[in-house]
Amino acid sequence: MDFSLTSEQDMLVASLRNFVEKELRPHEFMVDRADEVPQDLAAAIRAKAIEQGFYAFNMPESVGGGGLDHVTQALVERELGHSSWALHVFVARPSKILMACQGDQIERYLKPTVRGELVDCFALTEPGAGSDAMGIRTSAVPDGGDFIINGSKHFISHAAHADYVILFAVTGETVARGRRRKQVTCFLVDKNTPGMTVHRGPRCTSLRGYHQSEIFFTDCRVSAGQILGEVHQGFELANDWLTAGRVMVAANNVGRAQRAFNMAAEWAATRQQFGKRIGEFQGTSFKIADMASEIRAAELVTLYAASRLDQGAMTDGDAAMAKLLATETLGRVTDHAVQIYGGMGLMDELPIERFWRDARIERIWEGTSEIQRHILSREILKRYG
Ligand SMILES: Cc1cc2nc3c(=O)[nH]c(=O)nc-3n(C[C@H](O)[C@H](O)[C@H](O)COP(=O)(O)OP(=O)(O)OC[C@H]3O[C@@H](n4cnc5c(N)ncnc54)[C@H](O)[C@@H]3O)c2cc1C
Repeated sequence: MDFSLTSEQDMLVASLRNFVEKELRPHEFMVDRADEVPQDLAAAIRAKAIEQGFYAFNMPESVGGGGLDHVTQALVERELGHSSWALHVFVARPSKILMACQGDQIERYLKPTVRGELVDCFALTEPGAGSDAMGIRTSAVPDGGDFIINGSKHFISHAAHADYVILFAVTGETVARGRRRKQVTCFLVDKNTPGMTVHRGPRCTSLRGYHQSEIFFTDCRVSAGQILGEVHQGFELANDWLTAGRVMVAANNVGRAQRAFNMAAEWAATRQQFGKRIGEFQGTSFKIADMASEIRAAELVTLYAASRLDQGAMTDGDAAMAKLLATETLGRVTDHAVQIYGGMGLMDELPIERFWRDARIERIWEGTSEIQRHILSREILKRYG
């Protein structure tokens, strides 16, 4: 399989690198310290991303997006991974699930979100339902032509910046093969809807400046016109999008691992102890070899999954393998980077300790490593009956 870049991809990667270098990296330290992205900075990043054509690069051209194939999207994610998440999130990648918008939802939600006029957030997780998404309890009960929503969500990223919530709620129950199964519907709920409140969640060790929120619904009334997709089909809608999203998480993690590796390799080649460069000690040089090998493997597995996605042939296992390998690689690489830097690796004068802290969340969100292993092993073992 040939992953050499076309001249268009080369140019895109080069302009992204320039954008990351000029518009994002200079603010990383301040944002991490303050655990906050100033509003004017967020607006400036969004405006520059729109101006340079990076905004909503993941969305089809037909709705005003970048129209990139998945391999090229992965290359863009990899480059954005060279900066902090709290900042590059303003180069928005709207939830692809919005492609299910119908009728006036297209002009009210989909297109304004792609243009950067509205911001979405994705609310599935609840205090009692993380890995087991089927365990959600937030309910939406029909009432006339409307639905009344009650319940709560937590860990909802970017909800403070969002104008509306892509919400998953239980709308019924069915019995399949003797087992009861919840039916879930997806709704678009505007932030100012009476009965919905958003509160900032607890401070997180990873990704300072990027916040998550708790969202409470108390007799929150929405019309049937706010349903995204079909009634009871929310999980089917979410699953397609979540699986593809894992490939992009993997690509972003590859970029972050490359950045930590580049710094660690340079340090190993220049820092001297016992009259030698520390890279001359096998304890350090073997780490460098392992880091480089693992990053290459993660990158290739990620690009492979992205190309399968482009061919319409990607399996859940392909995406799980990419997410698992890339996130676990990032964890090991950033840990080795701290070790290679020694004490300086833990000082907040350098970004190494931040890379290490930020890496930790990646094995948890978008499906934990255990869940990825579960998806992958189930797919493999199925072949043997
Ligand atoms: C900062 C942050 C932002 C987030 N943003 C969003 C968001 O925007 N929208 C959203 O909907 N969610 C979001 N999440 C939620 C995230 O997807 C969940 O945290 C994740 O799915 C894990 O759920 P949990 O934290 O409840 O852990 P749990 O599901 O309780 O898991 C705890 C442990 O048990 C293990 N475990 C659970 N089930 C199994 C199993 N079957 N086999 C083996 N091991 C298992 C897990 O792997 C893990 O190690 C966010 C989370 C964080 C931390």
